[in-house]
Amino acid sequence: MPELPEVENARRVLLRAELPGRSITRANVGWAPTVKQPSLEDFVLGLPSKQILSINRRGKYILLPLDSDETFIIHLGMTGGVSVQPASREVEPMVRHTFHLDDGRVLWFRDPRKFGHLWLTADPYSALPSLGPEPLSDGLTVNYLSEKFRDRNAPVKALLLEQSVVAGLGNLYVDESLFHAGVNPTRHAGSLTTSELVKLKDCIVNSLTNAIAIYDRAREEHWPDPPSALHTWTIPRKAGEPCPRCGAPIATMRVRARGTFFCPSCQPPEA
Ligand SMILES: [Zn+2]
Repeated sequence: MPELPEVENARRVLLRAELPGRSITRANVGWAPTVKQPSLEDFVLGLPSKQILSINRRGKYILLPLDSDETFIIHLGMTGGVSVQPASREVEPMVRHTFHLDDGRVLWFRDPRKFGHLWLTADPYSALPSLGPEPLSDGLTVNYLSEKFRDRNAPVKALLLEQSVVAGLGNLYVDESLFHAGVNPTRHAGSLTTSELVKLKDCIVNSLTNAIAIYDRAREEHWPDPPSALHTWTIPRKAGEPCPRCGAPIATMRVRARGTFFCPSCQPPEA
């Protein structure tokens, strides 16, 4: 699933394509259940002739404020991606939705598994679920994590996956952050020491920052067709592969039904 670095890459793709300032002239929705709000008809009729002012991101959502004071919101779902293409280019089969622009180009929403979502709303924050702080903002502090984890017996991994705790993290970057912090994913969140929280917070920031930098380089290298999914993590996601730090075999388990990779030696079960 696209996580914060992938969604941030999608946002930067749209910025690089100079989408701000353009207006949508026609919306084609190829899979009606993708539109969450308003009705399909109101969505398709509501987008044309409105200018896109900027491209923002909140957690895993791309927010496009319009000059009508509404916001066009895109969630990429499991495998979605966006790009801006010339109208002359033949639309690929996995592109479910297209948005024609006033300069003749077309915004493509590729969504092979149809788990993406779209909104057009005057009140974006009531349309979206509750979201915790952005991990790359001043809102994510050691004190904040300490408050959220206090007295919680849930596995630390489970809490980090909750979008209401930290926005934008998913399975890959939680595993990566816990690996670098040396924290076992099943540790009770409330058992983490302050020094572990300091390290965990730094490792979350570093994992995401490194991944975004990899996407930045790939986007420039491959423009106008940059990749939307890259291998940006360092912990092997295959059981038995050697740990890049100590060489012990990487282990796998399930935490709240999510496939989890960790090093039993670098991330011991107890502190
Ligand atoms: Zn190790």
